[in-house]
Amino acid sequence: MRIVFFGSPGSGKGTQANELATGYSLTHVSTGELFRAKVLDSTRIGRRIGDTIAAGSLVDDITANYVLFKAIEGLNRFLVDGYPRNVAQARMFDVHLDNMGTKLTCALFLDVPIEVAEERLILRRTQRHDKVENYRRADDAPAVIHHRFDVYRKQTKPLIQYYSDRIIKVDGTGSPTEVTHKIVKALRKWE
Ligand code: ADP
Repeated sequence: MRIVFFGSPGSGKGTQANELATGYSLTHVSTGELFRAKVLDSTRIGRRIGDTIAAGSLVDDITANYVLFKAIEGLNRFLVDGYPRNVAQARMFDVHLDNMGTKLTCALFLDVPIEVAEERLILRRTQRHDKVENYRRADDAPAVIHHRFDVYRKQTKPLIQYYSDRIIKVDGTGSPTEVTHKIVKALRKWE
C-alpha cells in the first residue's frame, strides 16, 4: 500500500495520518516534520528551510523531492503526508516511482471547507498559546495562515484534478474518530 495524503492546512491530515499508519502498518512520512527537523540542524540549508516555513511558503521542489525520495527509499508500504504539494512534485513522484518499478495505490484527499480549516488553525494557535508557549508553530501566525491557504488554493488544490483517476475523497468534518472511520470505510471500498 503506497498512499499520498493531502488536504488543506488544518484539514487534520497529520492526526489522521498517524492513525492510519498505525492501523495499516504503514511508514508515516511527513515532509513537514522532516523539514522541521532539518531546521533544528542550524545549517545554511536548515535556516533557509526555516525561513520558508515561517513565511508559509513552499520549500523548493528540488529539495522537497530529494528529501521525500530519500525518506521512502526501500519502503513498499508508506503513507506520505504533506507531499506532493503541487502538480510538478506529483509528476516527479510518479516518474520516480515508475523508475522504481512501482506506483501509488491511491491519493487520499481530506476534504474540509476552507472556513472550517482556517478556524481550526486559529483555535489550535490559541490553545497552544495557553498551554505550551514554545510549541506554537511560527507558521500558525494569522498573516501566515492566510498565505498558507492561498498557496494551498493555487498550488495544492489542483492535485484533485491531477489524481482524478486514483483519488479517494473523504469528508474531513466531524470528530477525529468519526473522520478515521470515514477514511477506513472509503479505503475498504477502494481495495
Ligand atoms: P500543514 O499544516 O500546512 O499541512 P506541514 O507540516 O505539512 O503543514 O508543512 C509545513 C511546511 O513545510 C509547509 O508550509 C511548507 O513550507 C513545508 N513543506 C512541507 N511539505 C512540503 C512539500 N512537499 N513541498 C514544499 N514545502 C513543503
